[in-house]
Amino acid sequence: MKICVYCASSAKVDKSYFAATEKLAKEFVKANIDVVYGGGGIGLMGHLADTIIDHGGQIKGIMPKFMNEVEWAHKRVTDFEFTDTMHERKAKFLDDIDGLVTLAGGSGTLEELLEAITLKRLGQFTKPIIILNTNGFYDPLRQMLEKCISENFMDERHLQMWDFVEEPEQVIDSIINAPSWDKDSIKFATKQ
Ligand code: AMP
Repeated sequence: MKICVYCASSAKVDKSYFAATEKLAKEFVKANIDVVYGGGGIGLMGHLADTIIDHGGQIKGIMPKFMNEVEWAHKRVTDFEFTDTMHERKAKFLDDIDGLVTLAGGSGTLEELLEAITLKRLGQFTKPIIILNTNGFYDPLRQMLEKCISENFMDERHLQMWDFVEEPEQVIDSIINAPSWDKDSIKFATKQ
């Protein structure tokens, strides 16, 4: 399996977020899962890559060239793909993966997650989307998405697009057991 992970670049977040990132990284190595991520060397991104490398797992970074030019690329990650733009990078994240996991993060992480949800709603991306809700970090987003549904901006069936899990140990099971999704979801993307 190949899983894409979105997470924070910030190094100043509480240690519990680092601990959750580390646990998830170890779960992936144990299950022989390859990881694709943003290629950053610091924050939760850096810790994810360090843990995977330290435990003998596989991780690939995808980063726009301009970030490499300011030396944001993780020094120990050897498998790298450099893109011209952020848009190209985001498209490549979703290419040929078996699922997507979002850890806590800032606007970059939220933007990537919401784009993936939107593409899934339109049937352009069909893989599981798992949101790791460490410390209830994503409770407000969950409420917002549920409000979109209760106020008819989205359909009840869209609840099947994502799964919020509280612990890193639940992530792989959630990927494996995610409801199937296909291109036909475009038929109920918008309420008529
Ligand atoms: P955020 O969750 O706001 O920290 O955003 C994570 C995203 O921000 C990544 O996917 C990158 O697009 C970008 N980013 C910000 N800082 C860095 C960094 N130092 N290294 C790599 N990517 C970064």
